Amino acid sequence: MLFPITDLLDEQECYNYLLHVLHPNGLCCQLGHPLPQDQAPHDRSRSTILKYKCRICSRVFNLFTRTVWSGTRYSCVQVVLIMRGFVQGHSTNQVAGELDLDYSNLLRRRHQIQQLGLERQPKKPLLDQETEADEMFQNAGEKGTPHQDKTDPPRRRASKRKGKGTMDNDRPPVMGIVGRTTGQVRLHVCDNTRQVTIEPKVETGTIATTNMYTDESSAYAHIAKTGRGHATVCHSAKEWARDDDGDGIREVHCNTMEGIWTGLRNFLRTFRGVHKKYLPQYVAMFEWSHNLKRVNSEFLRTLIIPHFTCFPT
Ligand SMILES: [Zn+2]
Repeated sequence: MLFPITDLLDEQECYNYLLHVLHPNGLCCQLGHPLPQDQAPHDRSRSTILKYKCRICSRVFNLFTRTVWSGTRYSCVQVVLIMRGFVQGHSTNQVAGELDLDYSNLLRRRHQIQQLGLERQPKKPLLDQETEADEMFQNAGEKGTPHQDKTDPPRRRASKRKGKGTMDNDRPPVMGIVGRTTGQVRLHVCDNTRQVTIEPKVETGTIATTNMYTDESSAYAHIAKTGRGHATVCHSAKEWARDDDGDGIREVHCNTMEGIWTGLRNFLRTFRGVHKKYLPQYVAMFEWSHNLKRVNSEFLRTLIIPHFTCFPT
């Protein structure tokens, strides 16, 4: 059910919020010259989003200059609510409906913003001494792209369960690593689940002394050779957790990762099918929300400012 609240929010408050998020050190021009406190706006063509002309370089700028919202005709209230909707994983359809905006334009914005979220996913390894790695397979075809071959409809192709899912058969694998102490995750949409694809992600995603728990997939067969501890649980033999060291704690399992897959499936379900080209973006947004829990200014800058270079970790 749509519940529009645009009229209940104050435009000036939203401007101030965005100003604080995007320019924590005060508004400045695109070359970084700070705006003097006493300077009057360049023109008042828009009610809240004031334009200023830099006294040093003569460039005209406003709150959104050099951001993905540069040149937008949306109000600050709309921009705040759009960002909130995207970060919280609301469907584009719902956000467009509540804000009375054009769906296609909004979807294009979403992909632009999420692409920054994808490119700026944390690259640092998890510091956990105990980690789990696992994959899930997500049906993702070519939503929105007209389909040509009537003898091979997307639905049937995705539903073929023969063999493992791959990007080519529209069931791309999502590879995940979770740290058991920090709870932080690293997620990657992969073309396939071959060892050459998966193992580099294990090596960049974890420290070399970690003890890693996986299923029996051959993708993980060489983890021990990297110096990492490695124990597997045999899902195909209906084994879900095992006590290897006899201390009564069944430490050999991937249950943490299984729980995260449930969360990811629920997150993706909202969008009723995601084009496989954009699946990595949506998975990245889920990763951010899982790792951060609560939105902060750095994260919003990450999504809005293409040249922003200090990322949250
Ligand atoms: Zn300037």
